[in-house]
Amino acid sequence: MELIFEKTRSGRRGVTLDPLDVPEAPLPAELLRGDPAPLPEVSELDVVRHFTHLSQRNFGVDSNFYPLGSCTMKYNPKMAEAVAANAGFRDLHPHLATTPAGYACCQGAFEVIYETERLLAGISGMREVSLQPIAGAHGELTGVLLIAAYHRDKGHRKDTIIIPDSAHGTNPASAAIAGFKVLQVPSAPDGTIHLDSFRKVLNENVAGVMLTCPNTHGLFEPEVRKIADLAHQADALLYYDGANLNAIIGQCRPGDLGFDVMHFNLHKTFATPHGMGGPGSGPVGVGDKLAPYLPGPRVVKVDSANRSAGIPPASYKLATPEKSIGRIAPFFGNFMIALRAYAYILALGGDGLREVSRHAVLNANYLLARLKQAYKPAFPSGFMHECVLTLSDFASELDVHAIDVAKALLDRGFHAPTVYFPLTVKESMMIEPTETESKLTLDAFADALLEIAKLARQNPQALHEAPQHLPVGRLDEVKAARELNCTYI
Ligand SMILES: *Cc1c(COP(=O)(O)O)cnc(C)c1O
Repeated sequence: MELIFEKTRSGRRGVTLDPLDVPEAPLPAELLRGDPAPLPEVSELDVVRHFTHLSQRNFGVDSNFYPLGSCTMKYNPKMAEAVAANAGFRDLHPHLATTPAGYACCQGAFEVIYETERLLAGISGMREVSLQPIAGAHGELTGVLLIAAYHRDKGHRKDTIIIPDSAHGTNPASAAIAGFKVLQVPSAPDGTIHLDSFRKVLNENVAGVMLTCPNTHGLFEPEVRKIADLAHQADALLYYDGANLNAIIGQCRPGDLGFDVMHFNLHKTFATPHGMGGPGSGPVGVGDKLAPYLPGPRVVKVDSANRSAGIPPASYKLATPEKSIGRIAPFFGNFMIALRAYAYILALGGDGLREVSRHAVLNANYLLARLKQAYKPAFPSGFMHECVLTLSDFASELDVHAIDVAKALLDRGFHAPTVYFPLTVKESMMIEPTETESKLTLDAFADALLEIAKLARQNPQALHEAPQHLPVGRLDEVKAARELNCTYI
């Protein structure tokens, strides 16, 4: 595909400016360029076609199946986009909340923030929620900072966080950024946390334990209550990485399982597309122990008896908890993402959210049942919303690797599952179909993977050469990461 610079034709214009109807005011000479900027010269139609073609080379949930494990690439209903585009919210300037007149204009947005926090608290069994963190990892960091603030306040001297080896890499990173040492606990052969190893590393220096449940092997931790009890006996707090909430939403609540603090990924579970560095939201939820330390300011509801007579009367105001760790994001976090989540939760309701997790788990297990004849599950049983396969036999017997299968899927119109994560599984392939996919799509995907497994035996070379039907073939991904060059010369 030609670059826009290669489409340039001297003298072509996409826009014509109206003739000046005010006197010309020349710019100071020292601010003027010596040479004109090397901009592409193209017509409006050239621009429209160029960027339309470019967009069609993109791969997204709205165009194709995208079973990227751990990422919950589900379809996000356009209804939530329409709500977020509502001018009454969209056009609010965040600085309005800092002026008395603007404050009144923010009451609707404050209501959304307040109500979304209440809904998330209800879904998770947490006492309070703050929408400030702007990504999952940012929610983790906030949560760990809350744990640190709690222990500091109590006079505890604790410097360690325990994290299982199956955790997402952001968990140890967040703990380390917050100043903690990280102790890793291995997984048992069945893919869940190795309880005896956990017991061994737990001591009075442990400030917190970070768990993902279901974990990044797709398995529910059966001993989660036991782990919570042990952690609490050691005066450690239990953190819930809520990125996999899609698997349990409406079925059970982290707060009821004994967790003290958690984050949500609104951009996985609650109607915001995920990936490509777009805006996200990682609200943090806390139980009684950590509520006093939450980031501020918080939106609080004004008791109707105490409402001051304004026009309109303020129903919500801002207040910062006394022991707050302070601000961790500008303004109120990514408000528009919260707005999508609010619309989504209200549209689905409790029954709808229960259906989300039921279908997420059903879809993953349906795929696993179909794929088992050719691919080996990494663990014997218990997969919830995603399943992890190991292609180690393919690698040793046929020299066909997870990356080859992933690339072959691209040729067949599917986004590849996550490969080489979790790190605990050799040649891993992690498939998360999500609840929004039909049986028709799941069958087409299973058929493609079974056909690829057959091809691996008949003609492995064909897989090494995949993808063959995309604009670019096999990329040198290491070179692309280490010697990134995005300039056009
Ligand atoms: C996605 C994910 C995260 C991090 O979330 P970001 O929003 O990408 O920062 C953390 N833990 C798990 C298990 C995840 O899947």
